[in-house]
Amino acid sequence: MKVLAVASEVFPLVKTGGLADVAGALPLALAGQGFETRTLLPGYSSVTGRLKRKQVLHSYGDLLGGKAAVLKVELAGLDLLVLDAPHLFNRAGGPYGSPTGEDWPDNWRRFAAFGKVASDIAGGAIAGYAPDLVHAHDWQAAMTLAYMRYGGRSSVPGVMTVHNLAFQGQFPASIFPELGLPAEAMALDGVEYYGGVGFLKAGLQAASAITTVSPTYAQEIRTPEFGMGLDGLVNLRSADLHGIVNGIDVAVWDPETDPHLAANYSARTLKARKANKRVVEERFKLDAGNGPILCVVSRLTWQKGVDVLVSAVDAVVGAGARLAILGAGDQALEGALLAAAARHRGKVGVVVAYDEALSHLMQGGSDAILIPSRFEPCGLTQLYGLRYGCVPVVARTGGLADTVIDANEAAVSAGVATGFQFAPASGDAFVHAIRRTLAAYAEPAGWTSMQRQGMKADVSWAKSAARYGALYRSLIAKRQKSV
Ligand code: ADP
Repeated sequence: MKVLAVASEVFPLVKTGGLADVAGALPLALAGQGFETRTLLPGYSSVTGRLKRKQVLHSYGDLLGGKAAVLKVELAGLDLLVLDAPHLFNRAGGPYGSPTGEDWPDNWRRFAAFGKVASDIAGGAIAGYAPDLVHAHDWQAAMTLAYMRYGGRSSVPGVMTVHNLAFQGQFPASIFPELGLPAEAMALDGVEYYGGVGFLKAGLQAASAITTVSPTYAQEIRTPEFGMGLDGLVNLRSADLHGIVNGIDVAVWDPETDPHLAANYSARTLKARKANKRVVEERFKLDAGNGPILCVVSRLTWQKGVDVLVSAVDAVVGAGARLAILGAGDQALEGALLAAAARHRGKVGVVVAYDEALSHLMQGGSDAILIPSRFEPCGLTQLYGLRYGCVPVVARTGGLADTVIDANEAAVSAGVATGFQFAPASGDAFVHAIRRTLAAYAEPAGWTSMQRQGMKADVSWAKSAARYGALYRSLIAKRQKSV
């Protein structure tokens, strides 16, 4: 069965968050179940610059304002289709914004074109290729399903996956005439959203099935608190809504072989983590010592509760922990963290950067990872933490609630605890959870068994890929029945 995946980020080519990891790993996990996935990805200059052998499969004289081509590329075991459209994607900066961080003003055009091309491919634009199902990820890919719906291609089932409902791709109504959709699409059950055009909204409306990245988040987004204005629509479509937790690529994230670690280790050789801890101390200019190092690897945003972290720093240091923080994002939060590091030299180290290699080292050398998110659709860093024996301390929300077993008395006596949960995502509750963590760390035997329990958890794609596979099969079978 052939699946066309549509994603604006794919690891290892381009990544700003968890979406890239999922788009890079899911095709490999599904291959074992009889699904051949091809992934359409925008040809950002960072992507096209890396392509050596490429083959043009389809071309456009004018794709929303310029020439474009779909290139076939094989890379990192992935079968990729790269949308080479220099007028849209060939520019310095990130996938969605300028080097100084402002969103590109033509993002609507860039990702409408992306969706249009995906829809064309679903409709047979590439000779000899007819996908059985289309899987669109997040708002950047969501227009695929709207173009399919209004272009008479809705006989191919479409899955819409929401990695984060906070990002919706909302644009003014003035763009509508340029989208090339029929007038009837500008309606409440079409692409219209609060008087403008909503890309994610349009995808949710047109999808055969909707998935999001954890069972708890699938429930949360049905409420006004987490629904971000879309809870009404999500509720209407609740019969087609599925929560499937993300896995991680356990080959890339493997403490026994990870090349970014100073020392590799397994659940049996946890003592070797010490060598990594020494390097974490050096990289974050922390005083050397045997006390716990708590780390944070995160986008620095309100969603991630980084302000909650800032408010807790003095209490955490007062309680005897050291903090190693890697992140980038909101400048005010960066400044507040750097100020905390200046106040607590040797106890708090902050690196403002996006550094994949350092993030691996931190999981392999820190004792615990802190994740005080206000909402978290799935979260990946707690999964890496489990796999690396870096105990997760998480807010009880979304995928964090689904993947970490709190060390309450019942869980500890049953020997199943893997971390610490707290709620709400406030400074007091967070500091309380950290005190529980430090108390547990002070009991080495119990701590080691919690690390080992986490390392035993199945964080691979196996179970979740099977669930996606079952969903794909049911949608394809439904289609065949109706044809
Ligand atoms: P989100 O996608 O909301 O940012 P996730 O936890 O799902 O959150 O995924 C974040 C991914 O990005 C993880 O792979 C994490 O390790 C990585 N990451 C986040 N910030 C950094 C950083 N500053 N340096 C390196 N990796 C980072």
